[in-house]
Amino acid sequence: MMTDGAVKMKKYALPIGLLAVFEAIAVTLWLTKDNIFYLFNFNYIGISLSLGVFLYIKKYKYARRIVQLLVGLYMLVYLGLICNENMQIEGFWYYLFTGVFEAATIHYAVAKIFGPLLFGRGWCGYACWTAMALDFLPYKTPEKPRKKLGFIRYITFAASLIFVAALFLAKVGNIEKIMFWAFIVGNVLYYAVGIALAFIFRDNRAFCKYICPITVFLKPMSYFSVFRIKCDKEKCVDCGKCKKVCPMDVDVTDNSRKRKNATECILCMECVKSCPKDAL
Ligand code: SF4
Ligand code: SF4
Ligand code: SF4
Repeated sequence: MMTDGAVKMKKYALPIGLLAVFEAIAVTLWLTKDNIFYLFNFNYIGISLSLGVFLYIKKYKYARRIVQLLVGLYMLVYLGLICNENMQIEGFWYYLFTGVFEAATIHYAVAKIFGPLLFGRGWCGYACWTAMALDFLPYKTPEKPRKKLGFIRYITFAASLIFVAALFLAKVGNIEKIMFWAFIVGNVLYYAVGIALAFIFRDNRAFCKYICPITVFLKPMSYFSVFRIKCDKEKCVDCGKCKKVCPMDVDVTDNSRKRKNATECILCMECVKSCPKDAL
């Protein structure tokens, strides 16, 4: 029989484990790269995420929104605007071409390329500073069926790559400064287009569904995600509440990896919270 302490430890195993993983990354990068920034950076993100999971366990309504603001603002304001690191996809191409292992490269590797194999599109639900703002808009669940406009993401993806490659090929001077301004202009554009689309399609996440170039990385990797929301068919009564609240139109009652909009799940947990039978 488990003691009270053991029961509590089990309940909070996820936030504690999350903190431990980020602490390990923080210390490893700090020591191997001899840069204290990594210790601070990964500790901050680890603490923010663990706090969010802890608040979710405590059934606090705004747990996810708090994590979004803590991580999103840190990346946008501190890393982007104060440390002058272009954290958008152009910054990733830039650091990749220069061969510099900077915050943007690490950030993409952890959050958007290899991380999704483990935690799917958790980035989109808990950390993205674009969605952090879009999630304040009034259309939390889409009012109309999804449009067939997903092809636009490949155009924006190619445009970002061509833009940075052209700067290198044309041997433009002071690319670093251009990248800083590209970060500011890019973010202003993302917010403007994202907010406009949310109102046009009456869907806060329209930008994520049709435009965002990062989904070109996120979608295929999250297909294999270890962490997924699954449905207990024994408990499910097919009431459809989970599908009604889903901001990404995922058919969460289908457990296969090929379920409708499978690679769109942002792990927001709205379906889990809405299920009257605890089937998710
Ligand atoms: S799809 Fe793009 S804009 Fe939307 S949350 Fe994910 S990374 Fe952010
Ligand atoms: S409501 Fe459920 S299925 Fe939809 S995005 Fe959120 S966690 Fe994923
Ligand atoms: S909300 Fe729960 S019971 Fe209703 S369809 Fe979804 S999983 Fe089944």
